[in-house]
This record gives sequence, C-alpha cells and structure tokens, in this order.
Amino acid sequence: MVADNYREVDRRVGEACARNGRNRQEVTLIAVSKTKPVELIREAMDAGADVFGENKVQELCDKYEQLPKTLHWHLIGHLQRNKVKYIVDKVDLIHSVDSMRLAEEISKEAEKKQTDVKVLIEVNVAQEESKFGVSVDETEELVREIAKLPRIHVLGLMTIAPNVSDPEENRPVFRTLKKLAVDIKMKNIDNVRMDVLSMGMTGDYQVAIEEGATMVRVGTGIFGERNYSV
Ligand SMILES: *Cc1c(COP(=O)(O)O)cnc(C)c1O
Repeated sequence: MVADNYREVDRRVGEACARNGRNRQEVTLIAVSKTKPVELIREAMDAGADVFGENKVQELCDKYEQLPKTLHWHLIGHLQRNKVKYIVDKVDLIHSVDSMRLAEEISKEAEKKQTDVKVLIEVNVAQEESKFGVSVDETEELVREIAKLPRIHVLGLMTIAPNVSDPEENRPVFRTLKKLAVDIKMKNIDNVRMDVLSMGMTGDYQVAIEEGATMVRVGTGIFGERNYSV
C-alpha cells in the first residue's frame, strides 16, 4: 500500500510540474516518515523513495542506524540546540532554522565534526501563533547574520502552511514565500543561495508546486494517518 501511495504521489508531483512547464527534476518529493516504522520506510524505498523527512532527532537517528546509508534524511521539525550534535553529520538538510542561537550551535557542531551543514530558514508566513519560524519581515536579517557563520549554508526557505480544507486557501502563503526568496536572492548575499523552497504537504503540495516549491513534504499521503498515541 505504501509503495502504491508513493508512486501515486510521485505521479501527481510530475503532473503538477508538467502543468506549470516545470521539469520533474526541479521538485524533490520528501517522504515524511515520522511515527512510522522502518518496515513501511522499506516499502516506500521499493517504490523508489530515497529522501525521508523526520521531525524528531532521536527517531531520525534510530532509523538512520537501521536503514541503508544511501538514503537521504531531512530534519523538518523544530530543533532544540542540545540535539544539534546528534544530527549535523547525518542529515542532508535542516528545514527548520529560525533563530541565530540555533544557527550558531549548528555552525559550532559542524566545525567540530569538520562537516558542512545546509539549512533552510523556517518562515511563519501565515503568522500562526502555534507555529515556529521567523516572520517575513525578520527573514532577510536572519539570513544575513547566518551567512557570516562558518560551515552553515542557507539554501532557501521553508514554511508550514495552515491546515485548511481547500488547498487554494494556501496559495497566497506559498506565493509570499516564493516572493520573499526572490527578493532575498536579488540581494546577492555571500554564502546564500535561495534556490530551495520547501513548501506543501499532503493536502496542498500540488498548489505549492504551482507556486514554485522545489521540495514537498508528504507524510499522510504516502504512509497513511499517524497515530500519536502509540
Ligand atoms: C508532519 C509534517 C509534514 C507532513 O504532513 P502531512 O500532512 O502528513 O503530509 C510536513 N512537514 C512538516 C514540517 C511536518 O511536521
């Protein structure tokens, strides 16, 4: 079932790209495997999945140990500074940097491990109180400050759009993030790329792709509903 789901989501990602004249290779499908066992991750791998998103450090590390090292892991959830040391050499990308203090810790640990760490800045576009992330207005300043730190590289922006019934409601959110990335890119800040836009989840990834997403994070659509009580 998971393999079929993955193929179906992958197909829809391709369709959304085609509708907008985009190359399928421009969009990375991240299979969000949080709360799901490694057996289901293996099923997704059978369908070709090799990029997985987790939101908890411990869970990511456990799965990292159990699965082939050829997989790519993305930390998509809120990251506490005291956990940074466990993941800097395991993840391809941290999607959720939203403070200078966190960036400094990542930079410090990356130096210790002699590795380079790629990050996205999490932007709370919709200004939801329950969500992490910097405001649209604070983003450029944070990007400029992080750009000066060693061994940490800002590749772009990420947002978690509101939970809505009609994905069209989130189109302005995605459009705002895209515009912000374009605006910052035009400033040509050293050590800043702004080519990656991580936006869109199960309910709205097709709209996000239409608005310029280069990474979509799909959990439920691939692995089914999550049960947090177990
Ligand atoms: C859980 C999660 C997702 C996946 O959400 P679905 O609606 O299940 O696709 C995407 N992004 C982040 C940051 C998440 O925590």
